[in-house]
Amino acid sequence: MLVPTRLELAWVEGTLRIHWPDGRCQSLEHSRLRAACRCAACRSKPGGETQAATARVVGVEDMGYGIQIVFDDGHDRGIYPWAYLQTL
Ligand SMILES: [Zn+2]
Repeated sequence: MLVPTRLELAWVEGTLRIHWPDGRCQSLEHSRLRAACRCAACRSKPGGETQAATARVVGVEDMGYGIQIVFDDGHDRGIYPWAYLQTL
């Protein structure tokens, strides 16, 4: 399992930067992360992607196998395993 060496919340850019051990730096937009939430509620809700456009990340919790992301729309159910983040 590839585990990031560092996570960086870039507020100004509105991105989350993930530094991987192979030296790659992945930059993911907050809106992209919100739209990519795989929790049961988001998967069953059509049109979730458009709502996500303005969402911002307000917190990131390290779960060991991935991260739990808290968004400013109050959504905190999304768990993003490392392997899944790499596909975004
Ligand atoms: Zn969700």
